[in-house]
Amino acid sequence: MQLPNLEEMSAEEKQWFANSIAGMVVADGHADQSEMVFLREAINFLDDKDKIEKLMAIIKDGKAPELSPLDIDPKQAFLMLKYLAQLMVADADLSPKEIGYFLLAGRLLSFNNEILTKLWKSARALLERDLPQAIVETGSLKARVSLTKVDETGVTFRLGKALMPKVKIMLYVLKSVHSERPLKGDEKHWDPLSCIMEKQHQVKFDEGHYVIRARIEQRLFEDHGIMQILNPEDFAVVSDGGFFDTEKDSLLGSFLKCYVCDNKKIKFYVLHSKSMITDLNIFGIPSFVRSAGELKFCDFNLIQVVSCSKCGFSSHDKEHFKRMETSEPTFSVEEFSKGWEEKIEPLLKKAQEIGEPFYGEDRDTQQAILSYDLAIATFEQMVSIASNDEKKGAALRKKASMLMVQAEMLMESQNRDAAEENLKKVVDALEPVFESLKGVEIMRTCVLLFQIKIYVNDLQSAAQYMKFLDNYDPDKKLKEGTEEYKELKVSSAKLKATFDDRAIFTKEAMTHFHLDEEE
Ligand SMILES: [Zn+2]
Repeated sequence: MQLPNLEEMSAEEKQWFANSIAGMVVADGHADQSEMVFLREAINFLDDKDKIEKLMAIIKDGKAPELSPLDIDPKQAFLMLKYLAQLMVADADLSPKEIGYFLLAGRLLSFNNEILTKLWKSARALLERDLPQAIVETGSLKARVSLTKVDETGVTFRLGKALMPKVKIMLYVLKSVHSERPLKGDEKHWDPLSCIMEKQHQVKFDEGHYVIRARIEQRLFEDHGIMQILNPEDFAVVSDGGFFDTEKDSLLGSFLKCYVCDNKKIKFYVLHSKSMITDLNIFGIPSFVRSAGELKFCDFNLIQVVSCSKCGFSSHDKEHFKRMETSEPTFSVEEFSKGWEEKIEPLLKKAQEIGEPFYGEDRDTQQAILSYDLAIATFEQMVSIASNDEKKGAALRKKASMLMVQAEMLMESQNRDAAEENLKKVVDALEPVFESLKGVEIMRTCVLLFQIKIYVNDLQSAAQYMKFLDNYDPDKKLKEGTEEYKELKVSSAKLKATFDDRAIFTKEAMTHFHLDEEE
């Protein structure tokens, strides 16, 4: 964001500008931690550090500092105002309170309503340009709108006209902006979706405009484009390499590039969201049971690990492959390559002997088990080159997750010893770094280790993990609504459920990693 020329501003003008920035940050009535951090940086131009602290103290309770009229060079004033307009939409949301504050600041700088309105509306247009777009059709009206809110029950948008209550609205979500799926044919939009007008209210400061909530009136399918907006990560990966057709319609394929050896034709698959019924095993690993709808069944555990046919680099994480020319690896390719060829050779040879089936969508269980060996070797290599505890912990957690899925497959293919050996490897990998993990990750790891300890009858260690989670937030300091807070609730509940049923979760009591009571 372009700042006014601060060097030409007097101390008084700088203070006014800092106050107005602070006021805008708290205009929607709250100032969370990240906003406070942003603000401290934004007002860093105040020469007197005491003034920064004083201002931070005022807005801590969500109160805006007082502003009085300021007589300042019009060009500087205009740049200040422009900065405030950008700041107003920086959180991807524009509330009437923020607009109200903007109008107040603008009037104190002696701007007239016409200019102010123009400015906040162009800030809004900038904001809306990045939102999902749709065409709405109702009666004789047809208009392009930005969807400000989308969920599985409906959408919200702004319209220059009020609608009749309960009137029918056809919604065509446009493909170009926010769909990551390859475009089929010339269609610029997804299939029409039938909605009705649920409620509306007039937009404050913007006469004649209404915010309209449309409720979806028919069953939502993937071809409506709503799911693509809600879970874009579940749809095909955008890449420079383009898309390829898959045999199963439940899969989306993209060509990605190998960071290690530059191979350009790595086939990466993504499963359509919510297309399969899964059954979680006692460690939370899904097994794929059947199709949830009309899309063809795919056991995604078989093909989620993607392997480079040239150098053997293997991962289930799209971020480990190069998607765009501008993408950069999250690990050092040079370090990774040291000794990699020798390490992977025996496994890579096996994969290359299988050939095409191993690199496509038709892997069998044995081939899939091999793909996990390759991924485990890849993550071990990443562990060995990790430059800090955080990267090491992340790589070990990925290795552990590969071992857990492989264990599920080994168990289901009657190789119980190998499956249980994997559990031991997971413990060996995660226990030494447990203390260095943080937040959500340490809680999830804690639950997994607890479950494994219960399974192998190591109650003494299990008790340690239980104690750890019990003491995670003894003073109830975690803020409600944060990821960490939610995870603590979920993890505690999982741990308790395992503890309550500890007698049936042991290896003596189980024939595989699933509970069979409902079959
Ligand atoms: Zn490669």
